[in-house]
Amino acid sequence: MIISMRLHAPKHEIDAVCDRIREFNYKIHAIEGEERVVIGAVGVGDVTACLESLEAMPGVEKAVRISAPYKFVSREFRPTRTEIVVRNAVIGGPDFVVMAGPCSVESEQQILESAEIVASAGAKLLRGGAFKPRTSPYDFQGLEVEGLKLLDKARRATGLGIITEVMSDRDVDLVAEYADILQIGARNMQNFALLKTLGKCGRPVLLKRGMSSTVRELLMSAEYVVAHGNAQVILCERGIRTFETVTRNTCDIAAVAALNELTHLPVILDPSHATGKRSLVPALSRAAVAIGADGLLVEMHPHPEKAVSDGAQSLTPDQFRAMMRDLEPYIDLWKRARMTEAVAAV
Ligand code: PEP
Ligand code: MN
Repeated sequence: MIISMRLHAPKHEIDAVCDRIREFNYKIHAIEGEERVVIGAVGVGDVTACLESLEAMPGVEKAVRISAPYKFVSREFRPTRTEIVVRNAVIGGPDFVVMAGPCSVESEQQILESAEIVASAGAKLLRGGAFKPRTSPYDFQGLEVEGLKLLDKARRATGLGIITEVMSDRDVDLVAEYADILQIGARNMQNFALLKTLGKCGRPVLLKRGMSSTVRELLMSAEYVVAHGNAQVILCERGIRTFETVTRNTCDIAAVAALNELTHLPVILDPSHATGKRSLVPALSRAAVAIGADGLLVEMHPHPEKAVSDGAQSLTPDQFRAMMRDLEPYIDLWKRARMTEAVAAV
């Protein structure tokens, strides 16, 4: 249920509403807004009776049931976009945010060089895996803590924010010490122990869609993180597994538009894992801008031919710079659309 209070409702009216919600055995989950307070309540009970009772109380403007199983991430709960502030960037706001870098952190030189390249081309965050989820146990597994320290060094050198993957609930505190955004990989989208721990990590989380997961399952996973205390979740479409073999995964571009209807959370596209081929990355990136994604997560390697992981889908520095330049006119249109939307919302 969502209970919207009248503008400037006094505290005693808000408290009385909260008490009544608890009397009906619902739990207060969130109280948002300063001038206009919105109360979110969850649980199992007599919804109709509770709503009727609340609507009759002083200070209550509207009490409605949220029909979606994902409640706090739904557009019903919050009609306006959630903006997530990360160092020098706002994701879900008036700017299209690009996060770029190699698949894995490999060495100090590699990550520092990557950081310089992506920063000077206009990216706001540096990506790079220190903990790598690899299909084979014999493949490179990541530099782990050493990799996190190198990312920190790259952040200091460039001012970029850092996004890096965390694979286990045991490592959340450690990764949160270094990262500005914690990335949850496709293979962990439904690792519920991890999702619950992220609720308390105090950092924004970028949740990638599982390769066989539906859009609703992605939203339910986001709901886990939010329900456990962390409202700062960014969703990422990275392609799903289908019968198609020309691309590594099948990019479900429509999922971006669908998510924008269903949730207030920011949605970004990873064109690198979605295709597996660097030649296809610029076209999909344009599609991401056109469809209204909030940003991109792109792989770029200073020397893709030497990359220890995902070299084939990593852009070269020149290709990355060219792509960023070519995206500019599309991003200008994107900004105009965002501005129009913001004006309409007032
Ligand atoms: C990655 O970002 O390098 C990665 C492993 O992505 P995904 O979890 O989408 O496969
Ligand atoms: Mn990768």
